[in-house]
Amino acid sequence: MKRVVVKVGTHVLSEQNHLSRERMFNLVEFLVALMEKYEVILVSSAAIAAGYTRLKLDKSILGNRQALAAIGQPYLIETYNKKLSHFSKMGAQVLITAEDFDSRKRTKNAQNVINALIGQGVLPIINENDATATEEIVFGDNDQLSAHVAHYFDADILVILSDIDGYYDKDPRKNSDAKMRKIVHEIKEEELHLPFSPGTEFATGGIVTKLKAANFLLQRKGAMFMASGFELKDVYSFLLHDKHEGGTLFC
Ligand code: ADP
Repeated sequence: MKRVVVKVGTHVLSEQNHLSRERMFNLVEFLVALMEKYEVILVSSAAIAAGYTRLKLDKSILGNRQALAAIGQPYLIETYNKKLSHFSKMGAQVLITAEDFDSRKRTKNAQNVINALIGQGVLPIINENDATATEEIVFGDNDQLSAHVAHYFDADILVILSDIDGYYDKDPRKNSDAKMRKIVHEIKEEELHLPFSPGTEFATGGIVTKLKAANFLLQRKGAMFMASGFELKDVYSFLLHDKHEGGTLFC
């Protein structure tokens, strides 16, 4: 069975200080359909945004963002599990840090838990350990984490579900004539240094971290598909009906 890592961004899961229950339900429904055909691993952002729904702390202070991550992470997993239970499925929280990929021994250890969960039909829900991985909160992002997850856990493809439906030749929010690129084989050095442009106040990535994730996989003969997490039709088509209609394929 092929293995897919699905990464979903903060903006898809949250809106104006609450979790978007409808989008989460649609996502879970999609993941359950995917689990029929693939081995699925989810990388989910939004712990801090979820925490903020519970306690309004000043997010400009690092310690507060860590506290929000600690409050929000279990709430996020609980919300996933409530939705998964409608389909008689369950999810499991796996918190990892970059160090888990540092040595073969640690990578093997992480692989073991992922394989055991998948073997039991459980959905691994991965996040970086935001409460203590402070550098990640300041600089990091789940896009690159998910690329590592895809590579080290032997996935065939990484799917990034974002607030945008693909990779454009320029920022589509600023340029109405921007065109979406359907297939990308190579990422140029200058694309990795585009200005930082995340879609929301909670987002840590922007397009550059997605390009870095794609670049990491392209250099290792991996693949990545980027599509909308708001409107799932393109990712359904691509993964479940073998049709590339919308979304960008990096391969
Ligand atoms: P997420 O929360 O899903 O990780 P981000 O908000 O961090 O997503 O990044 C996606 C945003 O990047 C888009 O909403 C868009 O505003 C911005 N962006 C900048 N340049 C581009 C581009 N060339 N193609 C697509 N999106 C771009």
